Amino acid sequence: MSQYDFDLFVIGAGSGGVRTARMAAGLGARVAVCEDRYMGGTCVNVGCVPKKLYSYAAHYGHDFDDAAGFGWQVESVRFDWSTLRDNKKAEIARLNGIYRNMLGQAGVSLIDGRGRVVGPHEVEVAGQRYRAERILLATGGWPFIPEVTGKELAITSNEVFDLETLPQAMVIVGGGYIAVEFASIFAGLGVETHLCYRGSLFLRGFDDEIRAFVAEEMTKKGVKLHFNTEVKALAGEPGALQVSLSSGETLQVQQVLYATGRKPNVQGLGIEALGVVLDQQGAVVVNDSFQTSVPSIYALGDVINRVQLTPVALAEGTFLAHHLFGEGRPQPDYQYIPTAVFTHPNIATVGLTEAQAIEQGHQVAVYRSSFRALKHTLSGSEERTLMKMLVDQTTDKVLGIHMVGAEAGEIIQGMAVALKAGATKAVFDATIGIHPTAAEEFVTMRTPVR
Ligand SMILES: Cc1cc2nc3c(=O)[nH]c(=O)nc-3n(C[C@H](O)[C@H](O)[C@H](O)COP(=O)(O)OP(=O)(O)OC[C@H]3O[C@@H](n4cnc5c(N)ncnc54)[C@H](O)[C@@H]3O)c2cc1C
Repeated sequence: MSQYDFDLFVIGAGSGGVRTARMAAGLGARVAVCEDRYMGGTCVNVGCVPKKLYSYAAHYGHDFDDAAGFGWQVESVRFDWSTLRDNKKAEIARLNGIYRNMLGQAGVSLIDGRGRVVGPHEVEVAGQRYRAERILLATGGWPFIPEVTGKELAITSNEVFDLETLPQAMVIVGGGYIAVEFASIFAGLGVETHLCYRGSLFLRGFDDEIRAFVAEEMTKKGVKLHFNTEVKALAGEPGALQVSLSSGETLQVQQVLYATGRKPNVQGLGIEALGVVLDQQGAVVVNDSFQTSVPSIYALGDVINRVQLTPVALAEGTFLAHHLFGEGRPQPDYQYIPTAVFTHPNIATVGLTEAQAIEQGHQVAVYRSSFRALKHTLSGSEERTLMKMLVDQTTDKVLGIHMVGAEAGEIIQGMAVALKAGATKAVFDATIGIHPTAAEEFVTMRTPVR
């Protein structure tokens, strides 16, 4: 008889925790998961899924305008926020149920409540102690609002999906992908949307040309961009807020959304007392096998703050389950992780930016194409598409691909496979295009612009 109740005790039923628990149980381990908020974690409840649903909703706004040029007469269009919000709620409740069943069917014991690590092999949930040979911290991240007067009047991405009413005007603070996505969503839903960012251009880390291009496109779609602007103070009362900016301007809005980053969610977990080492950002430090400084305790996903994306947490979970209970797997590969930003139009990217490629010493040939998509010749929309490919002139290897345009994420996912396979520009050139598409542009770029 084992001295432990479980082989693995997972804290947090988000992307990484659920994947690890299911896989480990499938490999024969006795697994428990505790969760204190919502099955499926951030992605399902207040992240990727509701965000993409709201982004679809916002696209309809533009689509009604675009339809006129194709002969559709759409009269008296009206948007009802509560329908969207409540349909979203129902869909997420359905997903919560699926996650719960999936874990149950895999033989995982599900424990509702907040977990606290009380020993290298012991977790306490709702007054009950469980002994486990190994513990996995998969507690994700939590939105962070910097110190500012009136910060209690602001909301975060945790609250924004379930607002009682749609604001007429709102301020979004931040320059990361979550901030710009919400700016596109709310502008598309008809809200007067101000994006305030203290830097000179948002989306740091993305290709500079892409960043500038998206700023122009978002402006065309009505988002009011305030760069080099700090929020000095929030005042007023919920629903009637005054936002004082460093420019001297004061904006009158109904909501202020702070999307200024997320911190690893380790508060109250009890791990520091056990000697689990955290880095300066508060992220749990792990080795290549996701083991913390306490050998029986592991961590993965957003709480280790490597790459905060669901597919990365899933890859880490798959690796760890096989590493601990299976025959082993190669470590997750963090190179060529494709990613999309669901702005309007979408951004998607894989590989190096132009600046990174140059910094790494590549002789870079830059292929670039910017055009008005065929659809918009009739729609009358001024939206433009940008495609960019970076090639190493010595090896002919494609180093990076970047796109701003409709369904960019769908297109770049395929490109990521090519880059992962080490495709050269010659391979792209030898590939026949699909006509008429925007994506065919990637196989017909003949002359570098620099
Ligand atoms: C607005 C937004 C949009 C996003 N969009 C995308 C996107 O488009 N694509 C993408 O790939 N990623 C996106 N992400 C990121 C993605 O959601 C995360 O990378 C992913 O959810 C990380 O998974 P995780 O398992 O590490 O943590 P999480 O999914 O956050 O799960 C952690 C879970 O642990 C629970 N928990 C925490 N502490 C305890 C405790 N002590 N006891 C019990 N339970 C606990 C939490 O309640 C939560 O359910 C988005 C995030 C946000 C906020």
